[in-house]
Amino acid sequence: MNHKKIYAIIMLAMVLSMSACGKPVSKAEIIEEVSVDPQYVTTILEKLVSEEFTGRLTGTEGNKKAEEFLRSEMEAIGLVAPEFATSYLHGFDMLVPIKQKVTELEIVDVNGESVHKFDFGDDFTEYIARDFAMGIGAFEGAYTIIDDPFAINKVADLTSDDIWVFSRNATGTYSYDVFFKMVLASERKPKVIVYESDQLNNGHFILSPFTGLMRQNDNENGVLIYRVSPDAFQTIKDSEEKYLRVSTTADLRRVEVSNVVGMIDGKADHGYVISAHFDHLGDNLDGTVNYGALDNASGVSAMMAIAEAMVRRGEQELDYYFIAFNGEEEGLHGSTAFVRAGFLDVDKFKIINMDMLGSNIPIEFEISTTHPQSAELSEWILNNAQDYGLNAITSNIGASDHFPFEQAGFPAVTLIEFDKRYYHTPYDTIDASIDLEHLADLAQFVFELLQ
Ligand SMILES: [Zn+2]
Repeated sequence: MNHKKIYAIIMLAMVLSMSACGKPVSKAEIIEEVSVDPQYVTTILEKLVSEEFTGRLTGTEGNKKAEEFLRSEMEAIGLVAPEFATSYLHGFDMLVPIKQKVTELEIVDVNGESVHKFDFGDDFTEYIARDFAMGIGAFEGAYTIIDDPFAINKVADLTSDDIWVFSRNATGTYSYDVFFKMVLASERKPKVIVYESDQLNNGHFILSPFTGLMRQNDNENGVLIYRVSPDAFQTIKDSEEKYLRVSTTADLRRVEVSNVVGMIDGKADHGYVISAHFDHLGDNLDGTVNYGALDNASGVSAMMAIAEAMVRRGEQELDYYFIAFNGEEEGLHGSTAFVRAGFLDVDKFKIINMDMLGSNIPIEFEISTTHPQSAELSEWILNNAQDYGLNAITSNIGASDHFPFEQAGFPAVTLIEFDKRYYHTPYDTIDASIDLEHLADLAQFVFELLQ
């Protein structure tokens, strides 16, 4: 355990001052100054983004291995398992789309011969986040381009084709939910919807396995939906061959998974939850993996290093729960399940969640909350962060694991550096996203905050 270094400073100044005034020295005062171990932050971070865990998508083998790694690491650094999770695991089930092979979209000619194959991620992605969007299926057929914002209610009359390709002009100012419902309300439904979208980061679509709004795991009655980049839309629009072949194999499965929970028991029955989600988006099955270095191997490594330093420091007066949440990317499933289980008392615990910390560009350190009961906690962290020298602000992002706690009445914040450059793309790696020294410094800040 090379990370268990002791940073001890022994102060002997008293010896000198006491002999100066002639009194005998009964003992030297020893002040032990404990810090977060930057090497331990890096060790955990590198492990979480390693090939072994393949991007940690909930419900996959890589996620299971990451869960086991964190469990054994919590045990090794001396966190104890809470009563409600005797093996450090809090199990729950949730819906997750797990791909069997890479999603495909190509232009074909009348004989079905490939004319132009689009690149998953850069040119297009599947859209499977709603009940009306099919997760599994394939189709080949003629398509019609719809560019007119007023055509939406009469498309079925305009074409006999089964594939409807909408420009941004046609989707206009509608939210996609409203738009799809309008399209699917038409008398004759399409088999496939393709729509132009510019939700790209660094030329790559923002990926998401979101299932938060799905009620069940059969979306068989839906249609196949794909987002295409403006460039890909133009290629489809300009093509002389007007046939598309598509295929999606994202199996929506209900899976049994776990949050990983360890604690420092101060026998106080009140204290803090320090948390960070360890899951991410997994393998695209096209040779690219979403490693999720900033999102959120960074937050988990900070959390583990804070826990390690607190155990090393010894004796604590409060209870501290350290929770690595699972199923965050699909819609905060792990934290929601944890809050619903009712293990902790709303009046007795405050939540400090960490999601995306240690960006290697100058960016604001956000303290994010959405409910008034979190204002005091947020203000306290803000003042301390500014004193610490951080470029700190408060904000109101709800899309992380503090949110279910806030909804239940807990004071809860997420600390986040929302660097969007590589957000939810395969480019979010340690080299591209992270400043290791800065990440360790933020962990040190939270550690000092809790002392
Ligand atoms: Zn994310």
